[in-house]
Amino acid sequence: MPETAKKNVVLLGATGSIGGSTLRVLREHPGRLELVGVAAHSSHAELAAICHEFNVPHATLSSEAAYAEAKAANNFPANTQLGCGDAGLLEISTLAEADIVLVAVVGACGLKPTLAAIEAGKDIALANKELLVLGGAFVIEAAKRKGVRLLPTDSEHNAIFQCLEGHPQQHLDKLILTASGGQFRDAPIERLASVTPADATQHPNWSMGPKITVDSATMANKGLELIEAHWLFGLEPNRLEVVIHPQSIVHSFAQFIDGSILAQLSPPSMTFAIQHCLLYPDRAPGVDATMDFSKTFQLDFKAPDLKRFPCLQLAYDAMRTGGSGPAIFNAANEVAVERFLAHELSYLDIPRVIEQTLSNINSATATDLDALLEIDHRARQVARNFSTMDRLL
Ligand code: NAD
Ligand code: MG
Repeated sequence: MPETAKKNVVLLGATGSIGGSTLRVLREHPGRLELVGVAAHSSHAELAAICHEFNVPHATLSSEAAYAEAKAANNFPANTQLGCGDAGLLEISTLAEADIVLVAVVGACGLKPTLAAIEAGKDIALANKELLVLGGAFVIEAAKRKGVRLLPTDSEHNAIFQCLEGHPQQHLDKLILTASGGQFRDAPIERLASVTPADATQHPNWSMGPKITVDSATMANKGLELIEAHWLFGLEPNRLEVVIHPQSIVHSFAQFIDGSILAQLSPPSMTFAIQHCLLYPDRAPGVDATMDFSKTFQLDFKAPDLKRFPCLQLAYDAMRTGGSGPAIFNAANEVAVERFLAHELSYLDIPRVIEQTLSNINSATATDLDALLEIDHRARQVARNFSTMDRLL
């Protein structure tokens, strides 16, 4: 395909935060990008509005109840084919006319549709990190075998991808991921015990979905991203570092063996990474204003305090354990965050749930996808059974 040919895009997670930023990019480039399929979980009215605006021929709702409501409301355009459930998600991920699938659903539910899209020969723009932490070995193997592009849309990995272009792997020394440090970076440590879901879903720099905003506060997000970087760029944990950078302007660094360090900068908006992936390898004017060096601003960096951020330490531990360690870390974290947001657990229980789940489940490597999904399932059960009594153990 020539670099400037029109691309047909499928957007999984169209009603979310990344979904919204993607729609802004699509509005800017109607001659270059065409939306041919959209998926969401349950917000059917919002999904219908997207189908009307972009004249989308295929849509799907993973919630069967929401699908029934949408049918009753008859709110989708007559020429939009509407699917539902797991089958609908798989169908839309493999549409014959799609060139690229942007995976922006939240959580491990993104794994099967991504694998299906790869098998169907689609390029992937990957915002969802959980699926790579769960099934990185399978995703990387499939993408290599099928010769499809796996374009990192997470801002740190997108930055690294841009910094590494044209550099042979043997010149690379290490990767340094930047992290904002979240909303409690400088809060007194005693304050963390009383953090509520309302506090933990507000981020100082980024406007994101609730799960990733909590993950940013605990820095489980950076832990997931270290594992994501391991799969995308093939480096072992001792060559992956994290630095706190409160302004979220430098999106990560690549350090080469001669000591030179490259970085990518842009204001904290996901449209830069999303557009880079969708138009890759071409470029075009962006949606958001970039840095203005006529104004004075500061860039600060400092090492993370692993006592304040035990989830980051646990992610390193899981990565060093290897095998299914990262999958167990991810499953336990997903459940812990869900239970925290439902007011069932406290903020400080999140690392406790992860630690307990990691120590309860054998982290031997899963040899096939079914075995991996079974480990994910068991880890979720252990994490669901965590009770506040376990704090005393
Ligand atoms: P969000 O909660 O705002 O949106 C999630 C979207 O996924 C919604 O459209 C929802 O309907 C859909 N969805 C959820 N479960 C689904 C299912 N089972 N089937 C189909 N659709 C489903 O989340 P978000 O902040 O946009 O994040 C999406 C992913 O991108 C996450 O994996 C997150 O870690 C990653 N990410 C987000 C940002 C960001 O700035 N928001 C940055 C980097 C990476
Ligand atoms: Mg990120």
